Amino acid sequence: MLRKWADLVDQKRDDFARLLAQEVGKPLHEADGEVDFGKSWFRDYAEFDRRIEGDMLPADRPDEQLWIVPQPVGVAVGIIAWNFPIAVAVRKIAPALIAGNALVLKPHEDTPLSALMLAELAEEAGVPPGVFNVVTGPGETVGDALVRSPIPGVISFTGSVETGKAIARAAADHVTTVSLELGGKAPFLVMDDCDLDQAVETAVFSRFLNCGQICIANERTYVHKAIAGPFLEKLVARVEQIKVGDPLAEGTQVGPKVSRVELEKVQRFVAEAIAGGAKAMTGGSVLAGGEYAKGDWFAPTVLTGVRQDMDIMQKEIFGPVVPVMEFADFDEGLALANDSRYGLAAYLFTNDVNRIMRAVRDLEVGELDINRGPGESIHGDHTGWKQSGIGGDDGKYGLEHFLRRKTVYLKYR
Ligand code: NAD
Repeated sequence: MLRKWADLVDQKRDDFARLLAQEVGKPLHEADGEVDFGKSWFRDYAEFDRRIEGDMLPADRPDEQLWIVPQPVGVAVGIIAWNFPIAVAVRKIAPALIAGNALVLKPHEDTPLSALMLAELAEEAGVPPGVFNVVTGPGETVGDALVRSPIPGVISFTGSVETGKAIARAAADHVTTVSLELGGKAPFLVMDDCDLDQAVETAVFSRFLNCGQICIANERTYVHKAIAGPFLEKLVARVEQIKVGDPLAEGTQVGPKVSRVELEKVQRFVAEAIAGGAKAMTGGSVLAGGEYAKGDWFAPTVLTGVRQDMDIMQKEIFGPVVPVMEFADFDEGLALANDSRYGLAAYLFTNDVNRIMRAVRDLEVGELDINRGPGESIHGDHTGWKQSGIGGDDGKYGLEHFLRRKTVYLKYR
């Protein structure tokens, strides 16, 4: 059924992509990419029909058998964010169902349509009634009711840190398992020995993709002082080339923010940083009038003169804004990168193997990209350290919270 579901998504690729562009505001080519990425979880997790394994152990007593058997949790609840409504939905659906559970999925109230379209295709794929369910509505009421219900065996959540904490507290009443994929504040460390052009290109890509609305986005760029001048010059020039516009139009690279509330958050962060001494090298304000008359637009922005204690360096921006800070040596770079309540992802640009090995050992994150930008593999492991989450999605580890173990002791004659 999962394989058939993937085929059906393929057939409706253009409809899904258009819907995503309209729901989220992401450019069509990015929406295409999300549909392809999303459906690949169906096919990958379908393989686990032969891979979920238990353990057979030697018993302590004679004439006994001992084994540990993985079983479904029963009903799983998935609650998800708005930034990747299809990809993150399938990221929950495929492992929940292959583990043998029923799933109740609650998409974000701003982006429910693609989940509903996935539900239509579920019927066509032959998923039995009641096995996959979509419930729409606001988080504080509908989401909260799902979390407080005694029925689910797991709440698999993707969203902000604050909501994740609220869910963990509410789920504690029934001691329901939670898996939390939360926000990030990924540092992007650029050392003086790296390929500068590649670092600039990747810094831009990893910040402005999906209008900066990605949990593992480059949220704060730290550049070694020896190359800070040329890096910044190239970065600003590159950011100024970004084409902001209608997500449905050919050539658009960045669309609008998803909503007015989200736009106002970004506006507030930038205004406060500038009031505190930061300088916008490009952008710095909303875009209005002309082709930007309708919608919630923010100009691609590069900020300098920021300090580590500013909110813009400590809280998730989730928009097309990149603050840039210099550092003196690798130790300081690592310390700045780790100076965060978040621990989802980090980026490092260097060709020095010693620095690479130290970063692998010392950076407090669940995902580290070295000399590359974002782009996760569905068979990897997506998990946050610190306040970026507990549990996680993808691959064999992403299946774990959808299963529970039973240990069986059998005496025979
Ligand atoms: P959000 O926390 O506001 O909402 C996420 C979901 O939770 C929505 O469906 C919402 O309706 C629901 N919700 C809200 N309050 C609730 C409550 N009290 N009980 C139950 N459900 C509730 O997050 P968002 O604005 O939709 O998404 C942006 C955030 O998600 C960012 O912080 C981003 O980093 C994070 N995110 C993380 C990942 C990851 O894999 N780590 C992926 C995508 C997005």
